[in-house]
Amino acid sequence: MSVTAANITKVYGEQKALDDVSFNISDGEVVALLGPNGAGKSTMMKIIACFLPPSGGTVTVCGYHTSTHPLQVKKRVGYLPENNPLYTDMYVKEYLQFAAGVYKLGRQTRSRVEEMIELTGLTGEYRKTIGKLSKGYRQRVGLAQALIHDPEVLILDEPTSGLDPNQLMEIRQLIREIGKKKTVILSTHIMQEVEAVCNRVMIISRGKIMADAPTGEIRLLNKARHIVRVEFDRPADILKLKSIRGVIDVVNEQGCLYRVYAETNTDLRPEIFRFAVSNGMVILSLAQQEEKLEEIFRQMTS
Ligand code: ADP
Ligand code: MG
Repeated sequence: MSVTAANITKVYGEQKALDDVSFNISDGEVVALLGPNGAGKSTMMKIIACFLPPSGGTVTVCGYHTSTHPLQVKKRVGYLPENNPLYTDMYVKEYLQFAAGVYKLGRQTRSRVEEMIELTGLTGEYRKTIGKLSKGYRQRVGLAQALIHDPEVLILDEPTSGLDPNQLMEIRQLIREIGKKKTVILSTHIMQEVEAVCNRVMIISRGKIMADAPTGEIRLLNKARHIVRVEFDRPADILKLKSIRGVIDVVNEQGCLYRVYAETNTDLRPEIFRFAVSNGMVILSLAQQEEKLEEIFRQMTS
């Protein structure tokens, strides 16, 4: 596992920003944290990047705990904070050399800086000061900075916010390229961005993960009001499950675990229970999302 979060909570004074968040992210996944403003995306990312301790729970990165081995974690994580704070008076190359210094790259500095300039498409711009660059190019500098120490995990907090449509496409393309070789977690409140860049989406609202699914299912997530996750003792007939009234679609998550997307406001669990009984199956687990996804999507698109 690249990144695991187990029962993470974060409390700021009276405010609970994260509430019992758990997930596992495998090597090479490109995952979106999708949620409205204030959902807790930045807080979660700061905790993974070791910039903020959680109030409870544990995070590991490549097997190292953020609380006990922060240096090992920082070596393996590249982090592009929200609003990409940069030293605008510094020259691009000078800034990247400075970033390399933070990670004590020593004799590798020169070659790493050159590779990053090449990789992020800064070849025509690296002689300028950061303040003279367009927002899109500043974002490339931010990415180059995050990648300078060749981390295994890249954390990008709203990497395309404030970019014009062309810049946005270029940065997304760059993230897709990088995502072929690294584990990437990016935050966004734009559904199209998830579809363009990520292969998995975790929907977060008010500090809780409301849904976690492959990107291909985002349209289903958007349409559904409830998701029921059910595990049987044997494979189920998906067509029969789909024929339950109110069910939009059924996806086999793994083994005998299914996600049932439902439009109805009524609780589907009794129906699923009857389905199991009439088919001679045993339910090993059954859980329903507590909050309406519809509401979360409405918040993000309004
Ligand atoms: P997002 O990135 O999804 O917009 P954040 O993680 O920034 O969400 O914030 C989650 C919640 O925590 C919000 O309600 C926000 O106001 C609150 N919060 C974030 N940072 C702080 C802080 N330093 N002090 C107090 N409250 C904070
Ligand atoms: Mg944020």
